[in-house]
Amino acid sequence: MRPDTHLVHGDPRPEGDSALAPPIHPSATFVARDAEDFARMAGQVMHTRYYTRYGNPTHERVAALIAGLEGGEAALVTASGMGAISTTVLALVGQGDRVVAQTAHYMGTARLLAEMLPRFGVTVTLVDQADTDAFVGAIAAGARLVLVETPANPTLALTDLRAVCAAARAAGALVVADNTFATPLNQRPLALGVDVVVHSATKYLGGHHDLTAGAIVASRALIERIWSSAIVLGATLGPHDAWLLLRGLRTLALRVERTNHNALAVARHLAGHPAVAAVHHPGLESHPQHQLAREQMSGFGGVLALRVHGGYAGAARFVSRLRLFTHAVSLGGVESLVVHAAAMWAGTLDDEQMRVAGVQPDLVRLALGIEATEDLIADLDQALAG
Ligand SMILES: *Cc1c(COP(=O)(O)O)cnc(C)c1O
Repeated sequence: MRPDTHLVHGDPRPEGDSALAPPIHPSATFVARDAEDFARMAGQVMHTRYYTRYGNPTHERVAALIAGLEGGEAALVTASGMGAISTTVLALVGQGDRVVAQTAHYMGTARLLAEMLPRFGVTVTLVDQADTDAFVGAIAAGARLVLVETPANPTLALTDLRAVCAAARAAGALVVADNTFATPLNQRPLALGVDVVVHSATKYLGGHHDLTAGAIVASRALIERIWSSAIVLGATLGPHDAWLLLRGLRTLALRVERTNHNALAVARHLAGHPAVAAVHHPGLESHPQHQLAREQMSGFGGVLALRVHGGYAGAARFVSRLRLFTHAVSLGGVESLVVHAAAMWAGTLDDEQMRVAGVQPDLVRLALGIEATEDLIADLDQALAG
């Protein structure tokens, strides 16, 4: 099945169930038939009917759909994207290990690397992801785990997944990729050599800004290893949100197609606008890694960043004039969203950290929704005119 079809038919109805729409299993616990059955249930790995922190039939169904979409053997769903990332990293590293990661990561991931891992005796080396030689060199110097995120927030810089995976294989390290920005429809990291894919399913997979969830996809052996930490860390996805995620996934292919289209059309339009100083989007020929984007992505995603003339105040004024782009964090839902990057991180990063993260005072991030392209462009034009 192609991905569009898999999203609709990839989680077959259980035998004997005539309901077309999937059921929700809210039960926190499951009934054993007898003592022997109870012992069998308790001894299983990745239970689906024992106790919901260990697994649940609604989890199982949505996890199968996501695993198939990424081309992985198995998946786990978690209560958030950070639940997926921290569970995966804590499951795979220990005292004395070294993690190689990027200078640009989602803020929660950056804090896991900078603040938490060192407390457990894990060393972290951060590299500029666009500098493939530096990345490969840092991995060759020794690593247990390599953490990548491509395209990255907020500059849309890319990581060369094939090169990083080859270096990691040679060094005996596992590679974990955050595929949230790209989605499995635009980029399949497992096929490029990545060992584990993580997602904030809060974004495109859920798609409606109405749930918080995460996902982890890998080989069955790795997922079983991560599962044994997941049940201890307890970032358990509620069955109702698991069901809502399943519901959202049905239309993922349609939504991604439109958001890809909107982002590229808006990026091209803004690149020619006199009030705009720069546009960052991997689909633009002007993106310094456009060739890499063409090699490892089949679509360029729905996020772009622009710099406006007029500095911090100009960016703030532009954002406040927008009507169809809602001023809110997050991305990947049906509504287009906008954030003023420097304002978002003012409380967290100092000036030097902002510079390293590529957050200039005039940088604005747009996360395209599924509205009509012409309406979005008209809204951007009227805001820029001001
Ligand atoms: C939002 C996001 C996360 C964190 O996901 P939550 O669901 O908010 O915990 C991680 N990585 C990326 C790239 C994200 O955009």
